[in-house]
Amino acid sequence: MIVVLLGPPGAGKGTQGERLATCLGVPKLATGDVLRDAVKRGTPLGLAAKAAMDRGDLVPDDVILGIMKDALGMHNKGRGVVLDGVVRTVPQAEGLARVLRELGRTLDAVLVFDIDSEELVSRLSARTVCSNCQTPYTGREPGSKCDKCGGTLVRRKDDEPEAIRNRLAVYERQTAPVVAWYGAQNGAVRRIDALGSMDDVFARVAGALDVTCDPA
Ligand code: AMP
Repeated sequence: MIVVLLGPPGAGKGTQGERLATCLGVPKLATGDVLRDAVKRGTPLGLAAKAAMDRGDLVPDDVILGIMKDALGMHNKGRGVVLDGVVRTVPQAEGLARVLRELGRTLDAVLVFDIDSEELVSRLSARTVCSNCQTPYTGREPGSKCDKCGGTLVRRKDDEPEAIRNRLAVYERQTAPVVAWYGAQNGAVRRIDALGSMDDVFARVAGALDVTCDPA
């Protein structure tokens, strides 16, 4: 199953995407994780992306299309992939459609996480992430240890108030039109109410895709 997750920053795409990928037995591709790892390692990709990421702006479409192509080529032999935050502009959606056509694959569903912006600001302001495996936490102080890998939790630079405001504006301007684009293409768009406990939201995700998963 190939599933695109859309939704504003802080809507829970990463957490739910991880769980969905485990449930489906497929990999998850998150361009944000790929880019942060490149920044950490100081690769040319990371150096090119860092300033835009710190401001909360999007990195250029051709950079994302390159990542998408590499990763999907690699995952193509598998059963599918969960694409978390990989598609954020209409040209990226068009690019993904092209790549999938070339690979002889089709998109099964687009899940749109709906949540109001006040909740997003409070979630993002309280968020820390593991500097090693990128697992997000809410309400844990920077410097604490990650439950999963023992890495150190840090505050993301783009979770500072100004960058948060910019990311929400960027979502409205550049990513919200992608929802309409998918709606006009194939009708595979399903909206998920992203407010609620992790388990409740996951039950909605699984229900929308008509899959059954063991409890986490
Ligand atoms: P995320 O971890 O998904 O919040 O992504 C963090 C940052 O990485 C974003 O604010 C963008 O700067 C960049 N990024 C991730 N995915 C994309 C994408 N599909 N298009 C453009 N920029 C992206």
